[in-house]
This record gives sequence, structure tokens and C-alpha cells, in this order.
Amino acid sequence: MWGVIFLRHRLLAGVSTPRRMRLYNTLTRQEEPFTPLRGRTARMYTCGLTVYARGHIGNFRTFVALDVLRRTLKHVAGFDVRQVMNFTDVDDRTIVESRAAAVPLRQYTDRFIAAFGEDAASLGLESVEAYPRATDEENLRSMVEMIQALESNGHTYRSDGSVYFRIATLPAYGKLARLDHDGMKPGARVDSDRYDKDDARDFVLWKATTAEEPTWDFGVGPGRPGWHIECSAMAHRLLDGSPIDIHAGGVDLVFPHHENEIAQAEGATGRTFSRFWVHVEHLLLDEGAKMSKSLGNVFTVPDVLERGYRASALRYALLSVHYRKQLRFTWGGLDQAEEALKRITACLARLEALRGGAAHAEVAARVETARRDFDDRLAHDLNVPGGLGVLFELVRYVNTAIDAGELGRPDVAIVRAAFDGFDRVLGVIALRQAEETLADVPVDEIERLIAERRAARARRDFAAADGIRDDLDARGILLEDTPAGTRWQRK
Ligand code: AMP
Ligand code: ZN
Repeated sequence: MWGVIFLRHRLLAGVSTPRRMRLYNTLTRQEEPFTPLRGRTARMYTCGLTVYARGHIGNFRTFVALDVLRRTLKHVAGFDVRQVMNFTDVDDRTIVESRAAAVPLRQYTDRFIAAFGEDAASLGLESVEAYPRATDEENLRSMVEMIQALESNGHTYRSDGSVYFRIATLPAYGKLARLDHDGMKPGARVDSDRYDKDDARDFVLWKATTAEEPTWDFGVGPGRPGWHIECSAMAHRLLDGSPIDIHAGGVDLVFPHHENEIAQAEGATGRTFSRFWVHVEHLLLDEGAKMSKSLGNVFTVPDVLERGYRASALRYALLSVHYRKQLRFTWGGLDQAEEALKRITACLARLEALRGGAAHAEVAARVETARRDFDDRLAHDLNVPGGLGVLFELVRYVNTAIDAGELGRPDVAIVRAAFDGFDRVLGVIALRQAEETLADVPVDEIERLIAERRAARARRDFAAADGIRDDLDARGILLEDTPAGTRWQRK
């Protein structure tokens, strides 16, 4: 008896025991137990968008997967998270595109940073603790400091005003990408930010000024940073030094970007740069091609929304395949995601409509098992498909129990608390509900409320008037008072 009561209280309060987290580490090619190095806070760096165009849904596959990692660290493993996600707002591509558009670099990249904010909000990405831009002065200065440390440690040389990293000075170079040292070309160097594994060479840390490129001079000569130094320096600066706990991005970044980041940070500090390296597999097009801006075969979040799909369905589709497996993007796949989401929301709606009946010990036991299993799946290298399997088993059970009259009103709260718990990690149900709230305010209701607000103001009941405005605001309707009367628009 008391056991059942305690269980119900625990389930209602949403309390669950933190799970031991296991994560696949690209560095060791193994799953390893994860705990933060310092206290309870996981310090994580995510390579963010190169803002030369609006991010595509391939980029967002990585960002959604890493959002699930962030939420799992918090809500399943019970850690705090300090996460940094940068914007690469100076590199080969941003420079070329801003010149082509004849817009100053900073102004050019501003618009794609704003677009990222919109898409991230549509997809329910949690805000991270810092979004540094490479061209912020304090970041440029920290890059220069790291280059100076590399110079004094003997890892660099200069040529024509540029500074290069000499890979032969670091025997560990290649440990992440598992490069074959025999294939490396000592002395040969590469200036471009992106190149292949076969082309492992000395790479540029600071590029000498040219007439076409923006330039800064903070101590290693006039020029601009190479792409790789940006992330090493920003991670170091904003996550309180090495080693950080987790460094993450898409698989295309393993080489050269992350290999070079390790070389720079470890060459400068003599300490391990990141304990864990997490890489998300690619989103592919149906035909198997990688979705990439440079190939021109991309869809953005607004492209998907224009076809009538909800962002919540896109988020579901992006997270439903394990992050270490490639995901083929199809419109049919989005339809399936939509169906899956509807099954969840329909079950929740049935629960809400339930009246009467008694509490059932069986329900509490089922919910307890589902919550435990869900957390176990997620803690095991983010097994989201496994977690969704557990969630849908609970959906099936709930539907059957309602049909059989074996689930009563007193059981509803604990079932709902379980779905809330799943959704703290998945972030799809709340997103769908927010979309419906926004979409659902009919025009005549808005106009009726505006009239009520006018009446409230006329009788000087400003509290009521403000209440109506705030309520509409929360439902996505923005009011603007003009001399001609109140106008409204959907946010
Ligand atoms: P970029 O803007 O190219 O620097 O990429 C931003 C992030 O998106 C990086 O973590 C990339 O690895 C990732 N990314 C790029 N293309 C894809 C793709 N097709 N699927 C998944 N992730 C991708
Ligand atoms: Zn990076």
C-alpha cells in the first residue's frame, strides 16, 4: 500500500534517478562512461554554422542531435551543462560570398546568424550558454594568443606573412582521424580552410593580408585567422581551459577541422584538449548524396515549412534515427514523423478527456518501467530510437487500458508526467503544442479580445487590458496601438 503511494508521488514529481551516461568517443572508437571532469558541469563545445548562407536541414540534423545530447546530460544523467556554439563568421567561404554580394563581412553574416536564431527556435533547440562569433575582438585576440603560444613552443613557421602549423612537430598529429604518418607530406602546406585527408599538410593559422580579405592586427602581423584556430581558441576561452569534456560536430569535421583543433590547442597548452569527441552522421538526400551548401542540393527549415510540414515533424524526423547512422531525407519520412507525432498527441488528448474511474496500481508500475527504460536507452549513447520504442509501447498500453476501462482519472497525472519526462529530452510534444497554440487563435477571437481590451481601458481597468495583451502575446499575437486604433499581427 505505502509502496504504491510512494511510487505515485515519485512519478508525479517527475523525479528519476540520474543514469550513468555512456558516450561513443571518436578518439578511442569506443563507448565510454561519461562524467564531467570538474564537479557536476559538463563543458561542451559544438562547432556551429559557417554563416555564409542560411543553414540547411543537414546542419540542423547535427544541431538537433546535439540538443538531444545536451538535454540527456541534464535530464537523464543529472548534470549541469555549459555549452558553447560558435558562428564561423570569417573563413574562405564567408569572405568569398560577402564579396560576391558586395556587403561588408560582418553585415553579410549578421543575416544568417539571425536566420539561425529563427530556425533554431522553430526546431525547439534549447539556447546554449554562449554563441561566440569568431570576429568578436576578444575572440580574435585569444586566437592570436594561442598562435603566439604555438610559436614559442616551436610548432610554427612563417612564410610570406602567414603563420603555419608544422605538423611534424607534433607526433600525436593524426590521432583523431587515425592518419597514416607515412602518407603525410612534411614541409608541404595548405592555405585553404577545407581539404581532404589525403592532403594532410602544414596548415595555416593566420593568413597574411591580401587586398580581397578583411584584416586584423593583434600581434602576429596583419591578416585573418584560419578556420581551425577559431574553434580551439574560443573553446579554450569560453570553457575555462583544457581539457573540456565534450567537443562535437558533424562527421565531416573529423578531418581536417577537429584534428587541427587538437593540434593547435594541445601544441599551445601541452594538455589534452577535449576528453570526448562526438560526431553526428550526415543527413543524405534520397539518392545518397550528402546535403551540402557547396553542392547546392539543400533544403532549409523554411523550405520544409513552405511545403506545409510542421517544424515539430522535422525535429522528430531528424532525431528519430540514431545520431551515428546516416539519415536519408525524404518527404515520405516527414509524413511518417507527422503520423508518429499525431499518435502521441492523440493519446495525450484521450488522457485529458478521461473522467471518472479509480487509480490502478498496474498503471503506476507500467509508467515506472517505461520511465526507467527510456532513461536507460538515452543514457546508452543516446539511443533515441530505443527511447521512442519505449514511448510508443506506453502509448499502446495507455490506449488499450483506456479501452478496457483500466485507466482512471487519478492515473492521468502520472502518465502525463512520464510523457513530460520523455519530452524534456525529445522536445517534440511541447513544440507541437506551442505550434498549435500559435496557429489556433482565430481572427474573430482576436478581434473580440481587442474590443474587450478597448472596453477595459475605457473603464480604466488597465490590469485587465494588460492581461488581455499578455495573454494574446503568449499565444503568438502581437498587438500594436496606433493613433488609428489597435493593429495585430501573428509573431
Ligand atoms: P558548416 O556550416 O559547414 O560549418 O556546418 C555546420 C555543422 O553542420 C557542422 O557540425 C557540420 O558537420 C554539420 N553538417 C554539415 N552538413 C551536414 C549534413 N549533411 N548532415 C549532418 N550534419 C551536417
Ligand atoms: Zn569548429
